[in-house]
Amino acid sequence: MMKKLISFLFLYCFAVSFGQILKPIDTADYPQRKELIRAFNFNNEVFIRKVKAQYSGKTGSDLAKFYKEFGTDFEKQISNKDFILRSDYDVSVKSLIARLRKNNPQIPQDLKILIAKDNTPNAFCLLDGTFVINMGLFSWLDNEEQIAAVIAHELGHRIKQHTLKLLVALSENNQQDKSTVKTLKSVSENANETAFNILKNRMYKKGVEKRSQEIEADSLGYVIFKNADFKKTEFINALKRLQDFDTISPRELKVETYKKMFNLPQQAFKDKWLKKEDFSLYNYNFYKEKLSKDSLASHPEMAKRLEKLKKIFPELNPGTESLKPSESYLSLRKAARMEILPNYYHSEDFGLGIYVSLQFLQDGEDEKYYKTWLGKYFAKIYEARKNYNLNRYLDRIEPKEQSESYQQFLNFMWNLSLEEIKNISDFYQNKES
Ligand SMILES: [Zn+2]
Repeated sequence: MMKKLISFLFLYCFAVSFGQILKPIDTADYPQRKELIRAFNFNNEVFIRKVKAQYSGKTGSDLAKFYKEFGTDFEKQISNKDFILRSDYDVSVKSLIARLRKNNPQIPQDLKILIAKDNTPNAFCLLDGTFVINMGLFSWLDNEEQIAAVIAHELGHRIKQHTLKLLVALSENNQQDKSTVKTLKSVSENANETAFNILKNRMYKKGVEKRSQEIEADSLGYVIFKNADFKKTEFINALKRLQDFDTISPRELKVETYKKMFNLPQQAFKDKWLKKEDFSLYNYNFYKEKLSKDSLASHPEMAKRLEKLKKIFPELNPGTESLKPSESYLSLRKAARMEILPNYYHSEDFGLGIYVSLQFLQDGEDEKYYKTWLGKYFAKIYEARKNYNLNRYLDRIEPKEQSESYQQFLNFMWNLSLEEIKNISDFYQNKES
């Protein structure tokens, strides 16, 4: 299971009130996927040849190896339908890039867009100039100007060739990238795969980011954004919003919610389901700060980045409220929120899907829709439990890593018996109250 962690606990409640009728996404995309894989492989090979010509010896072959592995992995993701092709999100991102091009001739021409079924508000840029934009940006950011700010930051990385520089540094065992090199050395077993995974995660921004590169991308990104006549302060607002994603206290799941959702006609609620595992060995005070929030740290050190940016560009100091979103952005955001559960289902994060469904239900949002999802997710949990591989889909309790609310949820889930899970699954799949 991908470590998505506890991402969606703190989405604000927008009154979303449309059902499954809306189809912003065209899923009949087999020919498009085939063409995408062909084009990606072609570009990747061109890139590998270029890199080999540019860097001789070990560095050249290391880079070639990395790009080849990355290509194989990326092809798998495309085949797995991890991306949405032909959607309104593409159209929106393309028009934002077109706007960013104004007064910015340094923006490369060969950009391509891919929208990922990923709820984390992130974007990243592949080496061949493909921009991957997570749907999470659309459900989390306030307006399209902020989406443009994130794209501008990524353009900064792209123009400065940050990923390539990191790879070269690693290959040359350059001390600039000490922590990565150290991690690689400490893992003796299957070292190549590990190196690849660490770098891949870094590309996807799941790993630790290099602060100097982030600040460089922020600065260049901001200049691009400003040149293109976007309202300057939205750049800062976008970064603040991403910071909120990591630090806002999660919406806590209340005991009443469990009682409301799981006291069923055929199966009364049992208090013992909420019993917690004993973690008295842990020094809770030490982890207090962590426990008070579901820290994702998907945007580490954002406070420092904001500080630095305001220092370089003093005009950003007087903060302003976010701009009001356009009607078209509002509809994209609504649709992205409706995709949150389908996205977790796609990535097989079944435990997390239940947790998030319960939060939507606690807020009274689209009851019928989220109850249906609860049924689907419980059916998967039942299957997994029956096959003894629930571990794959439901996190283990890790007091150091998880909020109290999420730990409570995991305790609840692990306390349920196979039969109890089946009853819940049947109830929410067949009946809707
Ligand atoms: Zn970045």
